[in-house]
Amino acid sequence: MSKLSRTYAKQSVYNSHITTQSIFISGATGYIAQHIILQLLARGDKVVGQVRSAAKGDSFVKDFNNKNFSYEIVKVLEQEGAFDDVLAKHPEVTVFIHTASPVNFDIEDNERDILIPAIKGTKNVLASIKKSTPQIKRVVVTSSVVAAATHSELEDPKYVGGEDSWLPTTYEEGKSADAQSAYATSKKYAELAAWEFVKEEKPNFILSSVLPGYVFGPQAFESGLENLNLTAAVVANALQLKKDDEVPIFGGVSVDVRDIALAHIYAFDKEETAGKRLVGYNNRFLFQQVVDVIRKNFKDLTDVLPVGNPIAPDHFDTYNPFVDVESRKALGIDYIPFEKTIVEHITQILDHQKK
Ligand code: NAP
Repeated sequence: MSKLSRTYAKQSVYNSHITTQSIFISGATGYIAQHIILQLLARGDKVVGQVRSAAKGDSFVKDFNNKNFSYEIVKVLEQEGAFDDVLAKHPEVTVFIHTASPVNFDIEDNERDILIPAIKGTKNVLASIKKSTPQIKRVVVTSSVVAAATHSELEDPKYVGGEDSWLPTTYEEGKSADAQSAYATSKKYAELAAWEFVKEEKPNFILSSVLPGYVFGPQAFESGLENLNLTAAVVANALQLKKDDEVPIFGGVSVDVRDIALAHIYAFDKEETAGKRLVGYNNRFLFQQVVDVIRKNFKDLTDVLPVGNPIAPDHFDTYNPFVDVESRKALGIDYIPFEKTIVEHITQILDHQKK
């Protein structure tokens, strides 16, 4: 059992879970999905994870080391009916969590590499659920705060978003934009497609979407450190800075990976979250604060990393761009503080390097 599995298993929120459920999760190999799966397994739920290859599936069976985890292979999300057969094999499943989506800015073609897999993939998943597993009662789609606001809005302390906030970028603009904007556009149109599907097709399930900010925090397994996803790499990259480097200026809203995993579970397990867009973040941050936290907590690095322009720890305390979103309250998560997230993220990397 991994260190994190043991921690999850000890927490009362998991032990108080009474009815065992069977959950199908797409993108099981992902940074966030692995934590969702660990938390579900710790509650005693059964999980079927979709992966793109048997090699990845087999290595996760080893990592999770739990008889309640199994996997199915779906290689291409955007192929119509992609999930029909694998879902038909699982009449026991009553919940679907759709996390799979390209999170990659190193691409050649925005439409082929990001927009189509994200949007068509979401439509395919929902169509297959309606066709093959009508017993599924709750579906959770992982969206993003970037589907609801522009980067400058997320960085503007005066911005206030709401339930109906959507990124203004159009599909056509997303096709020719930089990869980061194409990603945001893919999240907007994939989430919109999900809400539209429910409206038009009236399936048996209730939909909820989760809109995470930047996700930081330790990997579910140390094996994840070999191939960090985009946002986990943002924190790791701070360790590459040299004393005289400029500290890059960017930021947004952020959340601990373990909290956003819990948000996905609450998104299907709580009455209050049914049919809602669930914005999930703890705080606003600037990258400078990642550097500040590392310099403060890791004495060996204090004089190695650049000082930059340190930010007072409580600088963004009152900043909440989605203050009016009722569903944020419905989640009711007691978020892990930013400093703890960064410290545990970095500790895992440094411990691994020492091995
Ligand atoms: P991740 O570690 O890169 O995971 C992405 C998952 O999607 C992986 O399982 C990957 O499979 C799968 N995937 C990617 N492209 C695919 C494609 N074309 N066809 C089929 N599967 C594909 O990223 P993550 O952070 O966990 O992201 C999970 C979800 O959270 C995504 O929907 C993402 O947009 C959303 N999100 C993430 C953040 C964040 O800060 N990380 C913030 C907001 C929203 P392989 O392992 O086979 O590549």
